[in-house]
Amino acid sequence: MAENSHADVRIEVDVVILGGGIAGLWLLDRLRKLGFAVLLLNKGDLGQGQSIAAQGIIHSGTKYFGGESSVADLEFMPARWRASLSGRAQMNDPDLSAAAPLSEAMQMWLPPQLGGALLAGFSQKIMRSQMLECDPNDRPGVLPDVRGGKLFLTDELVVDVPKILSALQNLNDDYIRALPDGMNMAFTDTAKAPVTITAGALSVRAQRIICTAGAGNEALLAQAGLRTISGQRRPLHQVIIGGMKQSLFLHCIGKNPKPLATITSHPDGRGEYFWYVGGLIAEQGAAQDADKLVATAKAKLQQLLPRADFARARWATHRVDRAEPAGHGGLRPGSVTAHGHGAFIVAWPTKLALAPILSDHIVALLEKDSVRPTGTKITGLVALPRAAIAKTPWEAVETWN
Ligand SMILES: Cc1cc2nc3c(=O)[nH]c(=O)nc-3n(C[C@H](O)[C@H](O)[C@H](O)COP(=O)(O)OP(=O)(O)OC[C@H]3O[C@@H](n4cnc5c(N)ncnc54)[C@H](O)[C@@H]3O)c2cc1C
Repeated sequence: MAENSHADVRIEVDVVILGGGIAGLWLLDRLRKLGFAVLLLNKGDLGQGQSIAAQGIIHSGTKYFGGESSVADLEFMPARWRASLSGRAQMNDPDLSAAAPLSEAMQMWLPPQLGGALLAGFSQKIMRSQMLECDPNDRPGVLPDVRGGKLFLTDELVVDVPKILSALQNLNDDYIRALPDGMNMAFTDTAKAPVTITAGALSVRAQRIICTAGAGNEALLAQAGLRTISGQRRPLHQVIIGGMKQSLFLHCIGKNPKPLATITSHPDGRGEYFWYVGGLIAEQGAAQDADKLVATAKAKLQQLLPRADFARARWATHRVDRAEPAGHGGLRPGSVTAHGHGAFIVAWPTKLALAPILSDHIVALLEKDSVRPTGTKITGLVALPRAAIAKTPWEAVETWN
């Protein structure tokens, strides 16, 4: 789209959200329900970057035994998401009944050689987070056929991220618009309201700008001249395996507090699944090129899942950065972050699962500053293009290995 297709579009809103991943889309719905006149502007495709690359696990904190933890907030997320997914949303959360989850639970596998010592270490956690030991007969067929080892069912549902993004888009499509890549944005002084954003010939006047742009928050902070807050990126290199016959939702646990591999399964529309593999493999894989990572993953997964059939598998990888606020010594922040500076709010959910909590925090910031709906009717949007949902990592693969 040419820049001048925005010829003199002037829009007045209460709040403008920059960035339409899970955080921005969830917040848009929440603020609209509260009566705010809100416009979401997205650069690129919706969910581009992290949300579309997420595995969709709504963690309850169980994964983080002994390691980094944000248990307090995560503990309530499965119930809150389940309420939204069943159409009985709580606390002005969105109705996500159009986005059936991929799985009601994750399984957690402790191989026999690691079972004993580790189990003792997180037995307390098991009590707290409603993990159930699985009947040996319910073992997925891919696991080793040996006694010993432990398999648990965790209270972590797995959402279908593209369906969630599209359900959120459909709820508020009229208030979501695309900004072309490469279009420079400028803000008037963000220390005081109202603030005006200009991008080409588009200008949007608002009481608050809320940035939920993931990795894009860094550029927006620089444009606003805010140097006291900055972002950090933690690279991941995920593995994608196409042509799998069985669906699997499994954390494979090793000696490290983080899972060696976390596998989720995503239907390919032809009766098979893409296995999408994160965890330590993807963290350590960030330092490897795609060929090396595929070779490592093949060896590791064959060892962990000796009865899985990889004969017809196609392998690929996907690089993506986790974008978070800086200041945590390079580690994952404990929970969500929303900073308000005058008319500018910048926010990171840290986890897709925590998008509802991030919205709570932002609503609280608006209440603290007495920012209220003004009854403004938004006009002029017809001149702006609608936004599309980003391609999934497996749809974006160019070459399979
Ligand atoms: C590989 C991977 C797996 C993960 N798995 C899980 C998981 O299983 N469970 C979980 O809870 N969390 C998971 N996460 C974390 C989760 O994905 C992120 O915390 C969450 O998606 C961040 O959402 P966001 O909306 O803040 O950012 P993003 O999803 O990155 O969205 C940012 C949006 O802003 C837009 N944008 C960028 N720049 C601008 C700009 N200047 N102006 C306007 N718009 C802009 C982009 O197009 C995009 O739509 C995972 C992350 C990764 C990388």
